[in-house]
Amino acid sequence: MTKWVYVFGGDKTEGDASMRNLLGGKGANLAEMALLGLPVPPGFSITTQVCTHYYSSGQTYPDTLQGQVLSAVQAVEEITGKVFGDAENPLLLSVRSGARVSMPGMMDTVLNLGLNDTTVEALARKSGDERFAYDSYRRFIQMYCDVVMGLDVGEFEDILEDYKEEHDHVLDTDLSADDWKAIVASYKELVEEELEEPFPSDPYEQLWGAVGAVFKSWMVPRARTYRKLHDIPEDWGTAVNVQAMVFGNMGEDCATGVAFTRNPSNGEKSLYGEFLVNAQGEDVVAGIRTPQDITEAAREAANSDKPSLERLMPPIFDEFVAVCDKLEGHFREMQDLEFTVERGKLWMLQTRTGKRTMKAALKIAVDMEAEGLISKEEAVSRIDPAALDQLLHPTIAPGAELDVLTTGLPASPGAASGAVVFTADDAETEKANGEKVVLVRIETSPEDIHGMHAAEGILTARGGMTSHAAVVARGMGKPCVAGAGSVRVDTLRGTMSIEGRSFKKGDIITIDGGSGQVIAGQVAMQQPDISGDFQKIMQWADELRRLQVRTNAETPADVKAALGFGAEGIGLCRTEHMFFEGDRIIAVREMILADTENDRRAALAKLLPMQRKDFTEIFELMGELPVTIRLLDPPLHEFLPKTDAEIAEVAAVMKVDPEDLRERAMELHEFNPMLGNRGCRLLVSFPEIAEMQARAIFEAAADVIKRTGTPVLPEVMVPLVGMKKELDIVRDIVVRTADAVRSETGVAFDYTVGTMIELPRAALRAEEIAGSAQFFSFGTNDLTQTTYGISRDDAASFLGRYQEKGLMEKDPFVSIDEDGVGELVRIGFERGRSINPAMKIGICGEHGGDPASISFCDKVGLDYVSCSPFRVPVARLAAAQATIKNRS
Ligand code: PEP
Ligand code: MG
Repeated sequence: MTKWVYVFGGDKTEGDASMRNLLGGKGANLAEMALLGLPVPPGFSITTQVCTHYYSSGQTYPDTLQGQVLSAVQAVEEITGKVFGDAENPLLLSVRSGARVSMPGMMDTVLNLGLNDTTVEALARKSGDERFAYDSYRRFIQMYCDVVMGLDVGEFEDILEDYKEEHDHVLDTDLSADDWKAIVASYKELVEEELEEPFPSDPYEQLWGAVGAVFKSWMVPRARTYRKLHDIPEDWGTAVNVQAMVFGNMGEDCATGVAFTRNPSNGEKSLYGEFLVNAQGEDVVAGIRTPQDITEAAREAANSDKPSLERLMPPIFDEFVAVCDKLEGHFREMQDLEFTVERGKLWMLQTRTGKRTMKAALKIAVDMEAEGLISKEEAVSRIDPAALDQLLHPTIAPGAELDVLTTGLPASPGAASGAVVFTADDAETEKANGEKVVLVRIETSPEDIHGMHAAEGILTARGGMTSHAAVVARGMGKPCVAGAGSVRVDTLRGTMSIEGRSFKKGDIITIDGGSGQVIAGQVAMQQPDISGDFQKIMQWADELRRLQVRTNAETPADVKAALGFGAEGIGLCRTEHMFFEGDRIIAVREMILADTENDRRAALAKLLPMQRKDFTEIFELMGELPVTIRLLDPPLHEFLPKTDAEIAEVAAVMKVDPEDLRERAMELHEFNPMLGNRGCRLLVSFPEIAEMQARAIFEAAADVIKRTGTPVLPEVMVPLVGMKKELDIVRDIVVRTADAVRSETGVAFDYTVGTMIELPRAALRAEEIAGSAQFFSFGTNDLTQTTYGISRDDAASFLGRYQEKGLMEKDPFVSIDEDGVGELVRIGFERGRSINPAMKIGICGEHGGDPASISFCDKVGLDYVSCSPFRVPVARLAAAQATIKNRS
């Protein structure tokens, strides 16, 4: 019989931390904490398999589930000595979702489950606090109606507000037990009116309702969006955690809080967290009441007059610190904890790996290695390469003039400027219109996720460092200032005021998530300094990785940036990018539109010194590092003059009739330019182009060698080869030109000639082609285009749909299709190496900067990946992780 339910707590714990896939992250860690002997309220987890079953069997449960749940409730009753639904000593439960990985805010919680008109009386007697019992009861009804029955919480809030107004109460704390009783009665009436059935009083009916709601919420739109954004497969499902209630709101000796074992913002090794006295769990994360600091040091730093947990409840604080140490040592990871103090007793409700900023992630990894908790390999493996660019975010330039409006909490680092928007939908629309926006909300909720993604940064008026906005923004790597209390937002009118100054939708502001400052207007930014912990991790990554990392760059600025990021060579210098600069394009057009070889040579002669200058600069910057320069590649239409003005301009230079020129341009028109006269085909048609480019390369090399003595090594690459003969023709031109330049300059430079493998035929005939090539570089952009037969330029119109329908998990132009395109890479690699075992082979398609594709390249055995400058650190780290993963 399949086991669908696992108990934790007391001496009955059945699961452990290794069972995360089955029990969800929360359930597995609750079991682990119970096994460690920590104070965990007992409970049970209904497995993720039940969720999968539920959706594959028309939203029904397995037959044996009910019996297993009953036994589990009995186990919890035995541990607690309470009985579910009992009129004397009732067991109350919480019901929460828990997927394999935490999905913040995705599914709501039901607390105080098991309360009805009878058990509430028992709770009043047992707690000696009737007011508390009825307050719990109304909270339960409200939560249950919201989460399980889908009623509008606003209506419940209206009842409460009206009641308070009628009875001259201001705060919830002004209400007595009788007040809450009256409100409970009104709530129940509302349910009957809305649903034409009474609020369920049977505890088991309540329990199954809540369990069903958790499973249903797996498929709500916001959960699906979150999964899509985070690559979480739909069939993972969620577990349901049912746990005995403990109360943080039974009086002044009660509290509830959240904490991180290290600072999640900067990684410092100090306990970091917030709590509220006399409050229930959700109150802290909801950001409605401003929480207190856990440690005295944090309180002092924040200059808060509210006492810390350390001061207020010293024994609890000591016990909690010991629990934190134990958990961090056990999991060897920074933990994010939830706890409750009920009448002076500490209870642990959750532990999980804490989310953190990239800065904190690097510091924690480096510190933990130094502390002997983890190895260098683990430290390197823990950094998410895709999130590294968080570090590369701009910050406000020192000395910039700042018109600071207010300061909130520095919730997520980096600075961002943008037009103010007040709704997530507006953020998305404006972003689609090409606007950079800052999303301003009173507080954010999971419904805002798409807007947070679209925004450059997020500003909230309410909420602490652990509020939704703060946690989610940190995860996304977006700058966020949270809890800026003086920001008054009027969402309906689309305005906000800050300290008497008003802003409307579209006005530009800047936020600095590092300092918490909110600033009027646009501000000068500076690129970050990547040193310290980042350098250390990168140094370890460099020691560990097998793959080399080069860059795709053609401008001196890009080359410099790439070198700064640690590029070990240029893997692709697209010479055509150099053709668009300044008035070069006119000479390029002249060359293309020339009717005769002579005219073409005349135009090329103009281009030669410009190209030579480009290459000289690059060689000087790169020194002895390898530089792969690709000969002209792109479809002709990219260069053709289009407007009348452009045609007139070229005609004037060429001294021809604009109409003749237009005709010539029409002749060159292609229906399928991507598959037309481009790459080596152009060079076969117009060998003079290859000759000019080769001359520019070699003259530049000879010049730099002569002047500086640096032995530069040009690697000349021929694009879009499908047949060995194409390569041979171009190669002969290059070799002849090199010989000529050598004898003209008297400099004996070295060079190699190789080819891109970016057509299926080239991959299949690699053995033959390798006879003429000294290196291969896989051009997986074109290889993906031609393997799938999907146009690079037109794919966007349908690829999204393919992903939605599950035909493709990822965009194959972003992450390599290992099965198809990857198979051709493997074939090309093996066949090339079979002829030339020492041949250098790399990749220079966009995939060279994608962590999953880099892992694939490592597995195949390529020598290097080449990617855009800003992705170089990502590639270095991903390459190290690939080595660690692929060799284990
Ligand atoms: C490729 O096709 O993968 C490649 C790197 O060349 P380009 O993107 O310039 O066509
Ligand atoms: Mg290409």
